[in-house]
Amino acid sequence: MRGTGKIILSTGNSDAEILIDGVAVPVRVRRSVRAKAYRLSLDQAGGGLRLSLPVRANLKRALGWAQEHEGWVRSQLAKQPERTVLGDGVVFPLEGRQLQICWIEGASRTIRIDGDRLLLGGAAESVGPRVLRWLKLRAKAVLETESHAMALDNDLIVASVGVGDPRSRWGSCASDGSIRYSWRLILCPPEVRRATVAHELAHLLHMDHSPAFHAAHKRILGSDPRPARAWLRAHGAALHRFVG
Ligand SMILES: [Zn+2]
Repeated sequence: MRGTGKIILSTGNSDAEILIDGVAVPVRVRRSVRAKAYRLSLDQAGGGLRLSLPVRANLKRALGWAQEHEGWVRSQLAKQPERTVLGDGVVFPLEGRQLQICWIEGASRTIRIDGDRLLLGGAAESVGPRVLRWLKLRAKAVLETESHAMALDNDLIVASVGVGDPRSRWGSCASDGSIRYSWRLILCPPEVRRATVAHELAHLLHMDHSPAFHAAHKRILGSDPRPARAWLRAHGAALHRFVG
């Protein structure tokens, strides 16, 4: 499928677009001293592509090369989950319930939950980024409290708790006792989130997934963690569609 594409260089910045089947796909261009060749990858955050190229490479030629890979781009984009911007009217899951974002003109910027609505005022165009920031802060607070409380109950010590947005895992535990979670755990039912916390705490005892680890996981959680794991397998990927 050659010849259906067209390269567009945006003015004013280093980013560009390629046209795939008539649809403009944004390309974030990154020049790197370490890059020895062109490299095309999906831009998970932006929903488009990332093109890295050597510092002195010709951008137009690199974009032409990217365009030649439109078959690959098409198949990769098709695999991407749908995206939902956390804007006014959007319904999203939070800690086991469904909330609808409700932007009210002239209302306070402070975000608050009122029944099954998430209310906020402030600038309409910044609703998405502000809701996202609020969710990450809430995730960090809840996961921090829960991790330390569960650790205390089990004579364990957590060095620090942080949140990020990894694509393929829900938590990680370092040998120094610091734990990082996906902020998206706040979108899960509480029992799923707690099972993930117990999983990372069990890694403070066993840095593997041995039978001893699984026994510790179950003991720390106080129940069978398998339903939570099954829930994440079934519904976890869909939680990645929410963007700010
Ligand atoms: Zn693990």
